Amino acid sequence: MSNTENSLLLGIAQKFGTPVYVYDGNVILNQYEKITNAFASCKTKIKYACKALNNQHILKLLQQAGCGLDVVSIEEAQLGIKAGFAPDEILFTPNCVSFNEIKQGVDLGLVINIDNLSMLQQFGHTYGATVPCCIRINPHIAAGGNIHIQTGHIDSKFGISIHQLRHVIRIIEAENIHISGLHMHTGSDILDAEVFLQGAELLFECATAFKKLSFIDFGSGFKVPYKPDDVSTDIDQLASALTSRFKEFCKQYGSELEIWFEPGKFLVSECGNLLVSVNVLKQTTSTVFVGVNSGQNHLIRPMFYDAYHHITNVSNPTGKPRLYSVVGYICETDTFGWDRKIAEVHEGDILAIANAGAYGYAMSNNYNARLRPPEVLILNGKTTLIRRRETLDDLLATQIS
Ligand SMILES: *Cc1c(COP(=O)(O)O)cnc(C)c1O
Repeated sequence: MSNTENSLLLGIAQKFGTPVYVYDGNVILNQYEKITNAFASCKTKIKYACKALNNQHILKLLQQAGCGLDVVSIEEAQLGIKAGFAPDEILFTPNCVSFNEIKQGVDLGLVINIDNLSMLQQFGHTYGATVPCCIRINPHIAAGGNIHIQTGHIDSKFGISIHQLRHVIRIIEAENIHISGLHMHTGSDILDAEVFLQGAELLFECATAFKKLSFIDFGSGFKVPYKPDDVSTDIDQLASALTSRFKEFCKQYGSELEIWFEPGKFLVSECGNLLVSVNVLKQTTSTVFVGVNSGQNHLIRPMFYDAYHHITNVSNPTGKPRLYSVVGYICETDTFGWDRKIAEVHEGDILAIANAGAYGYAMSNNYNARLRPPEVLILNGKTTLIRRRETLDDLLATQIS
């Protein structure tokens, strides 16, 4: 972290208190540009997977940049529309929801992505060819990352198995369904362009069975760096391999299809820091614990996915590095990081937990009756509070007195 970044974060912690989520909007816009530039030679649409971070200000920022939206619930769709997205720029990719929720999606004018044969049948029965839809294919390729974030494996609940293609065709012929898009999303943290291309080949093969496609959606899974020496998906390399193959396919298919992606993490992970204060330094027989005023209630990824989030001391950036285990204040084993080398920590210091833009606030909760932190957006040097800190009244708001 640079000195300027460091003092900016310190200033925000002082002004808004801790814990606090801080997002750098320019990092989001840069990431968006990176991906659109890489795929500029195709008709490309980016649908931001807003489950990663759904504050209205973030949604508006991406909407104004020209991005579309991927939503997994009707409520996310409503948030997207409220932020200014046109319904037909929103892809609705739910799983295991009721047909009633899918009908609500149709009523709103969303692009519907169907995840199972039962819904496909009901969709066809209800709408016939009048409402086009996309189908989510599970190609069963083992994408990268750990098992918690893989969605393409054989036991996965997501998508319609590629082995059921014959059944799919039977249903769409019987119900006269217009399939406008094919979709795959094999999970997070794909490092290897080869894996992506393998999946793409399977989708191309499927695609020849559908005559009226207008897009193919390759989902997401672009990896971002978490550790200082981590590598991320080489988006330019991936783009050049995929676009040339995609163009070839379009020629053979007979029309120029759109290529869609729905990144979450890639767009917003690196923009975010969770700033926390050190409540207590606790020397035990085995380690030195740094106890902070936050926990799994605010950022659950380290405990839920075993995710690495880099931690730095913004109060004492030039301090001598020492080994610490950083833990939360929740009555669970909520460890943010074991055996981390951090510039010498004192009680009262402010620590920054990195990569907190994606699946940070969005997955937070009120466990232990703890209040959720505020969110602050930095954009072009300007700092704005975009969500206030919760109060005890918020906890009581839905309870009947
Ligand atoms: C979660 C999700 C994404 C985004 O995944 P990231 O790893 O955050 O990029 C994209 N598409 C679908 C259908 C998802 O469920």
